[in-house]
Amino acid sequence: MTTLPAATAKKLGLVIDLDTCVGCQGCVTNCKQWNTGGHSAPLTDLNPYGAGVDGVWFNRVHTFSSGEGAKAVTVHFPRSCLHCENPACVTVCPTGASYKRASDGIVLVNHDKCIGCKLCSWACPYGAREYDEDEGVMKKCTLCIDRIYNENLDEVDRQPACVITCPAKARHFGDLGDPDSEVSRLVAARGGYDLMPELGYKPTNKYLPPRPRKTAGRHIGAPEELEPAPASGFLGWVDQMLSR
Ligand code: SF4
Ligand code: SF4
Repeated sequence: MTTLPAATAKKLGLVIDLDTCVGCQGCVTNCKQWNTGGHSAPLTDLNPYGAGVDGVWFNRVHTFSSGEGAKAVTVHFPRSCLHCENPACVTVCPTGASYKRASDGIVLVNHDKCIGCKLCSWACPYGAREYDEDEGVMKKCTLCIDRIYNENLDEVDRQPACVITCPAKARHFGDLGDPDSEVSRLVAARGGYDLMPELGYKPTNKYLPPRPRKTAGRHIGAPEELEPAPASGFLGWVDQMLSR
């Protein structure tokens, strides 16, 4: 059992805009490129050109479609660690390898302490943990700690690799604990969501829902038109799709 800090000075995280994400996989690719040579390096690739291809990816983008004809809607859903405020992935860890930093709220794994028991991946409801078969340890998104604090980079480049590469500007990085930060204002303005809030993990990352689409004088793709439409709204629909 590993304890969490009582509070964190910052809540660094991502805001992901499901309205503008085009599913290009640019963030996925740049995340892999940076992290395979960075803090968590290397990231395993198993049978990359053969059957049973597998490997470690800190960020994955899933594409879902709903409805038919004029009501058809496609949503691209990037998924990575949400750097939760109350993460069971940390508290279940028997060695202290998984931890949450008091300084900025980032959830990390100390690979020297990890025994590869995989309890944390069972505890994470978002599927955000990645087991490295080659090294026998658990890995995950670090929010690119080796970029965001890297004084050898120009200040403009001190952003997670996924954020800096997104051509649609669908990804934003900042302190979600500061109500005046750009990311917090964006969440307030666009009705940003927690993913599966009922679980009580209190994810730091937020998602911005797609705006209604306008076609031939009428709106389609409004959250209420997505099928099936659970009571919990658009991200409830995404939860349902991810749970299949
Ligand atoms: Fe832990 Fe999963 Fe939350 Fe990340 S998303 S902090 S791995 S519970
Ligand atoms: Fe979506 Fe941006 Fe990632 Fe492309 S790079 S998949 S647009 S979030």
